[in-house]
Amino acid sequence: MGLSEITRTTTAELYDSYVLKNYGRPALTLVRGSGSVVWDDQGGKYLDFTSGIAVSALGHCHPHWVAALQRQAGELIHTSNLFRNPNQGELARRLVGHAGPGRVFFCNSGAEANEGLLKLARLHGATKAGGQEGVCYKVICAKSAFHGRTFGGMSATPQEKIQKGFRPLVPGFAFGELNDLASFEALIDDQTAAIFVETIQGEGGVHPATPEFLFGLRQLCNRHNLLLILDEVQCGIGRTGKFFAFEHAGVRPDAIGMAKGLGGGFPIGAIWVGEKAADLFQPGMHGTTFGGTPLACAAGLAVLDVIERGKLLDHVTSASVPWIAALKALADDFPAQLLGVRGRGFMVGLQLAGDPLPCVAALREAGLLVPSAGGNVIRLLPPLTATADELARSVEIIRAVLVSKR
Ligand SMILES: *Cc1c(COP(=O)(O)O)cnc(C)c1O
Repeated sequence: MGLSEITRTTTAELYDSYVLKNYGRPALTLVRGSGSVVWDDQGGKYLDFTSGIAVSALGHCHPHWVAALQRQAGELIHTSNLFRNPNQGELARRLVGHAGPGRVFFCNSGAEANEGLLKLARLHGATKAGGQEGVCYKVICAKSAFHGRTFGGMSATPQEKIQKGFRPLVPGFAFGELNDLASFEALIDDQTAAIFVETIQGEGGVHPATPEFLFGLRQLCNRHNLLLILDEVQCGIGRTGKFFAFEHAGVRPDAIGMAKGLGGGFPIGAIWVGEKAADLFQPGMHGTTFGGTPLACAAGLAVLDVIERGKLLDHVTSASVPWIAALKALADDFPAQLLGVRGRGFMVGLQLAGDPLPCVAALREAGLLVPSAGGNVIRLLPPLTATADELARSVEIIRAVLVSKR
């Protein structure tokens, strides 16, 4: 038995014996990555357009990012939020530079960011109700949303497969139809504190909120004194060619949740709160032990450095044009299998005619790693550093798989 075989057996056995069974996943063990490529423990090489689910924004082991983490790891890793650290202040400043005047709170994941945002909505509601809690607390979300697996996030995610087994949920959520402004407006009452949607739905199947819809939500929130809160956990941090996806619509939210791409693979989440609501959190009202450590913020700063110096927003904007055009051409060539192409920049969904999982498996066999999404969709989430050649290669692989399955 070669070393790699031992690793494979051992890893599979360890998972089978010791890891909780909450994930269904293929028998693939990844051991190394560089740029847009990962290798498995058998030496198999894959073009990685999963990017750890839109997390590895700079691809794997980007040298600037690795050097920044190594340097910081040897200096100071964790202090808790009982003390200040320079990286947290600097990363907050730079995020405010992208989002607008306001303040930032750091946490560790998308769901945790969303929990903070839901607590912010309750604080805003209490302010509306003259300081009384439990009167104005409702949050309106979208039906095909995904906001995470915590109780708050799950309660904002009206999918049977997410909620089943865990009820009762957190009360106070109502659900409108994405891009149907009237359906949101009809749900607003005196108890409503906020509207909370993904700018582009990810897990739900890559459904972008239209600029008109976002503009309409902004007006509704202004008229009814509601917070407009955007979940940019997946679509933010450059993925669509703007730093935040809402910038395409020219609409400014009151608060934003972010996480996935922010650390480039190191766990970090954050919420930005605009000036209107930035003073709602006062000392002692919210917190987290690990949020905004020197190391996590060094990772975030390195991601922002590379996005800015490497002009990655321009790259995503320009490189995605021929790529998405080529994917749309595929949809024309295989109309029975590929029903449509949605999304923006490097966040693209392929609408399939049936279950995406056999196609995900065939793509993996052919050397392309991609995640599926709700509603028979395959997502393509290349790192923001993916080259034109790598994007073109992904189209070739998808074409070959569609031919083989015709
Ligand atoms: C992934 C995701 C979350 C949850 O983030 P975790 O880091 O997995 O907790 C929340 N909202 C959106 C839009 C996401 O894509």
